Parts: sequence; structure tokens; C-alpha cells
Amino acid sequence: MGWVNNRSDGVVVRVNTDKDGVERFISQIRGEAPPASEINHTEYVQIDNELFTEFSIIKSEAISGEITEVSPDIALCVDCLNDMKHQKHRIRYPFVNCTNCGPRFTIIRDLPYDRPKTTMSSFEMCDTCNKEYTDILDRRFHAQPVACNTCGPQLMLLPESELRSTDEIVSYVAARIDDGEIAAIKGMGGFFVACDAENQSAVVRLRAGKQRESKPFALMFRDTETLKHYARVSPSEEALLQSWRRPVVLLEKIKEPAPAALNGLKYIGAMLPYMPIHYLLFEKLKCSVLVMTSGNISDEPIVIDDKTALSTLKPVAYLVLGYNREIHNRVDDSVAFCIGETVHLMRRSRGYTPSPVRLPMRTEGIFAAGAELVNCFAIGKGNQAIMSQHIGDLKNAETLDFYTESAGRYLRLFQCEPEVFVADLHPDYLSTRFARESGKPVIFVQHHHAHIASVMAACGISDKVIGVSFDGTGLGTDGTIWGGEFMVADFNDFERLFHLEYIPLPGGDSVTKQPWRTALSWIIKCYGALWEERFSKLFPEIQIQEAQILAQAIHLKINSPVSSAAGRLFDAVAAIIGACTEASFHAEAPMRLENLASAECSEIYPFQVNGSEIMCSDIISAIVSDRMNGIPVEAISTQFHHTMAIMIQNICEQIRATNGISEVALTGGVFQNRILLQSATTLLTRSGFQVLQQSKVPLNDGGIALGQLAIAAARRG
Ligand code: ZN
Ligand code: ZN
Ligand code: FE
Repeated sequence: MGWVNNRSDGVVVRVNTDKDGVERFISQIRGEAPPASEINHTEYVQIDNELFTEFSIIKSEAISGEITEVSPDIALCVDCLNDMKHQKHRIRYPFVNCTNCGPRFTIIRDLPYDRPKTTMSSFEMCDTCNKEYTDILDRRFHAQPVACNTCGPQLMLLPESELRSTDEIVSYVAARIDDGEIAAIKGMGGFFVACDAENQSAVVRLRAGKQRESKPFALMFRDTETLKHYARVSPSEEALLQSWRRPVVLLEKIKEPAPAALNGLKYIGAMLPYMPIHYLLFEKLKCSVLVMTSGNISDEPIVIDDKTALSTLKPVAYLVLGYNREIHNRVDDSVAFCIGETVHLMRRSRGYTPSPVRLPMRTEGIFAAGAELVNCFAIGKGNQAIMSQHIGDLKNAETLDFYTESAGRYLRLFQCEPEVFVADLHPDYLSTRFARESGKPVIFVQHHHAHIASVMAACGISDKVIGVSFDGTGLGTDGTIWGGEFMVADFNDFERLFHLEYIPLPGGDSVTKQPWRTALSWIIKCYGALWEERFSKLFPEIQIQEAQILAQAIHLKINSPVSSAAGRLFDAVAAIIGACTEASFHAEAPMRLENLASAECSEIYPFQVNGSEIMCSDIISAIVSDRMNGIPVEAISTQFHHTMAIMIQNICEQIRATNGISEVALTGGVFQNRILLQSATTLLTRSGFQVLQQSKVPLNDGGIALGQLAIAAARRG
């Protein structure tokens, strides 16, 4: 007998028992903890005699300064799925949930986590729900969003229609999707746009509506069995797909759905149903695979409210399926891939956020502004980093609003009073400006140093490591664009020991949309005055006059900043072998290049090291010759990937020889290339290196804020 109190600094239990009893009690709590819970630390003390006659729950109270964690949203559990079939008041109820599942972060307005502080506050529990909610033996005991068919949120078509019952609505939506129509469906953290993934015309229309020219769509499969017809699924991938976090997992394709869904890429972004409505839909649907892509137009943030859904998604979708529980915090689907048993996050959102990342240092009062393109910010609380959900590209005005709004919300929710801001060295990043405008002291951190620190922080390592930081762009301390960096770094500082050969980028940022421009620049560098002949053979579709103008710009150094970024080298190779000359989405060229490669290879292209510069011209000219000699593009791509992995191994060996360091952090968006990541990891491990593995934050710029936070914490002392 005793009581339990869910306070903002943790759970406190007071019981009458002896020492053995309390230890048994703690081990039982650990053993039987719900799947989505995480117990960080337990302790007990003996206090003066106090005799209890019953076990009670004490109302939540806020203890200022200390807060417990906010749970991420949790996929529907098996028990609740069962209740949808058998429990009288929840038959086919689309918002069933319990203490082990359901919405959390997306509905929370304030702490401590209690119903009045969520968007469930407007729904009054019926007697049945209230009985469950207050019955300590019930699995819905204190489940804040508890609801049933009588008292809870309901599905509704927008704008209002005469279809009212869940059955009528779900049958109608399923039938329209099976007819080839597009539906906008309100999900956990935002709206989604869905259609039959086997219906080419529907997928093409969806693409046109979303203005998403060719980026592959995420797909939702009826169940694991169906999914296995379409993709190879390893045991770790299966476990991740079915976990309560239920992210989108990139899998190797076996069978193609409608061609427009993946646009020729070999990975399927697959997920399984995670909300009751998904199960209800699949019950009625004839099709077994849905395109389930975020409900937004182009690069805007995912739509969360009904009004915006009607104005922006209705023109794309035949119907809009909503419900009357408000989404407070916008959260996209998370995206991950597995290499062996290691999970690599590409987007950390639903199911992960706002779970903290624990760090080996005190971070209290630091706000890390993040990068710009794949932004995510972080706030320091105690000795942890609370990472925001994926925010997106801040250059989009709506996304910037989302950033500002979320930053304010996190600071309020987690009661953080930032004393210091930390931002990227790049003065024009909108996140850097945000930090500057705070009026607080700002610590500036070099982008690739932050990438390395992010991996170190996630692994809990603070000793010096070798960092291989490969990405598309990031301002260097010398004013040039970096992104093919080999550094020795700790949290305090870094030393840039080697980097890829510099290449001018004619037109600056526009090269990312036109990889052929970087290819042109390399061809000019490799062949000098003879570039035109090679270029026009490789790029017959590009007007030579246009190339000549760019050649002039490079020559005169007009709007042609130099860059050592690995991402650009991958772009150039993709363009030269014709895999992608114009990119219609971020990182399309390296993705298409990877698409052609396989892991097994023994040949490499030649490269040399000149001082601190790793010369890549020989790689490019060898690839140009191979291409002109009709060597299959698959073989070229494979050999190029192998070359880069060998290069990483060689350079790391050189660094180890002089510095004696054998821990390596492979980081930056380029390492989302699975073939590169896997072969570099294998080679390094074989030569006795320890490659740091972490599953906490993305290797892309979504992980930058964590690195910034750790560096700022270390520098602050
Ligand atoms: Zn449940
Ligand atoms: Zn009820
Ligand atoms: Fe980066």
C-alpha cells in the first residue's frame, strides 16, 4: 500500500515494505515496463513510519526547473487493436489508445502531461472511460487520451458531408482510393496524401499535385507479409518496422509498385500501419499498398489543421478525411535504414521526438540553432539534448515560421531559459540569424566540426577522434566551401588534416540542381583547352554555348566559389555517366549513382595526395575515359564507390600513423549512401579502426544541432 506521484522531475512512489520488498518491486517495474518506456535511473530511501491502507495516485504537480520527459507518439498496440474488435464501446473506434499507445507529443500543450494540458481537453470522458481511467488495474489507468465511441474524437470528411458513421466514412474513402482517387488523410502529426501505390495514373496525378517531380514516395503496406513481396526485409529491419516507433524504413526493392512511386530508385521507403484509421482503411481497401506521403506542397511544412488542409490539399485530393482532435505539435514520419543491426536515422521525428539524447556533459541553458537545409534544433536541459522534430529547409518562409514557433514552444515546454546560443559559422543561414537576433551571446561552430561532434556526443565519447565529414556544403574557416574533410577533433577544437581537391562551382548553389555544371568544371580542370570535345560527347543535350559561358565564368572566377565537398564529386560522377544531369530533388544525383553500384569490387581509380589536398582529377579523367570507351555505368559507379572507400581507409591510416588515433566518425549526408558507408566501415574495421556507430541522430544536417550543443557545452566549460 502507498501512493505514486507522476511529477515533472520523475515518478515518486511511497510504499510500506521492507528492503527485499522494495528491491523486488523495482526489479518488477524494470521487468514489466511498457515497451515505449525507458527507465533511466531508480533510487530508494527509507523514511519515517507512515502507514498506508490503500494505494493511491496523487495529482500531478510541477516541480519548477525539473521536468520529466515528454513521450513521443506511440503506434497502436496489439491490445488496443484487439479492443477494436471485441470491446463493446470501442468496436472499430478510430482513436482507441491506452497507457502503452496513442498520441503523446503531438497533442501536448504543456507539462505535466495531464489531459487538460492536451488537445483532448475538449472531450469529456464518459462514465465507462472514466472508470477505466481511474481503475488502477485497468490498462487505461491514467491514459490521458483515453476515449471511446461515445465520448471521444470522431472521423469526419471535410468539408462536412452527410456521411457520419465511422463505417460509412471509411468505406467511402477506401472505395474512392480503390477507384484511383487521391485522399488527404489526417495522421498523427499532420496530414498525409494517399493513393493506391499500384495505380500509375493516381501516383502521377499525386506527383503533379504535390509538385514533387521525382522524389520517391513513402509507401504504407497492409502488413509485413505483403511488404515481403515488394522488398527484402532483414530481421533488424522487420523489428524496426514493427517497433512502437514505426518509422519509414528504406528497404531493397524486389517488386516495383507503380513506376511513378519510386521513379527507378532501388530503395522502398516502407512503413506499416500505426494508427487505428490505417487498420480500418486496409480492412476495406482492395489494394494492399498505399502511397502515404506528407500532406504538403513542395517544400512547405506538413499541414496540420483542417482549414489549411482544405485550402492547400483539397486541390490535390479528391477528398479530405479529418477528425476533431487538434494536432498541437507538427511531426512528420521518421525515416531510417539499417546496416546489419545498426539503425541509421535519416529523419528523426514521429516516435523519436522529443526523447532526449543524454550527453557526457552539462548542457543546461544552451540553444543550438542547427543548420539550414535539413534543420533540426536542440535545447540543453540538465545533461541532455532535447532535439526538435525534423523542421525542414529554412529558406522556405513557412518552414522558418515553423522553426520560430517550435523553438518558442520547446523553450516553454521544457522550461529552458537559454543563456547562450550556438550557430553555424555561415552568416547567412537563417538559423544563424535567429541565434544572432536572440541578443544573447552566440558561439559559432564550423559545420563539419559539428557533424563530427554530433557522432561523438551520440556515442558519449569526448576524446579526440578522426572525423571524416562528407557532405554537400558547409562554410570553412578559410571562407571556402568545405565538405570532403578529414579532421582530428574533440569537442573543443578540430584540425583539418586532409580534404578533397578544390573545384570551382560555376553558378554557386545552382550546381546542386544542375550536376552537369560540376562535371563541366572537372572536365575543364582535367583537359584544359581540350574540354569542349569531351564535354559535348558526354553531354550532347547541353548547348555548348551555355557551357562556354560557364567556362568563362570559371576562368574569370566570376560567381564560381571553390569547394572541397564530397557531395559535389558524387554529383559530377553521376552527371558524367549520365545517371543524373539535372536534379529535381535534393541529393538526387548521388542517389542515382548509388542506385547503379554494387558492393563487390576490387579495382580502384587512381588518386594522389598533394600536401593536405586529396587530388581527384585522375579519378575523373579515368571515369571520363571509361565512359567514352563504353564501360557499363554500373561498373563505373561500383568502382567509384570502392575508390572512395579505399581513399577513406588510406587517409585514416595516414592520420593514425602520425596521431595514434584509431576511433573514426564517418558523418555528413554523403554517408547516407549505404554502399559507401558499409564498405568504408568494413575496410576501416579490417584495418583495426573502431568506427563509431550511433542510432540517435541523423548523419545529415539533422544531426548538426547535437554537435553544436556539445561543442558549446565543452567550450563554455
Ligand atoms: Zn494500446
Ligand atoms: Zn468513453
Ligand atoms: Fe552538412
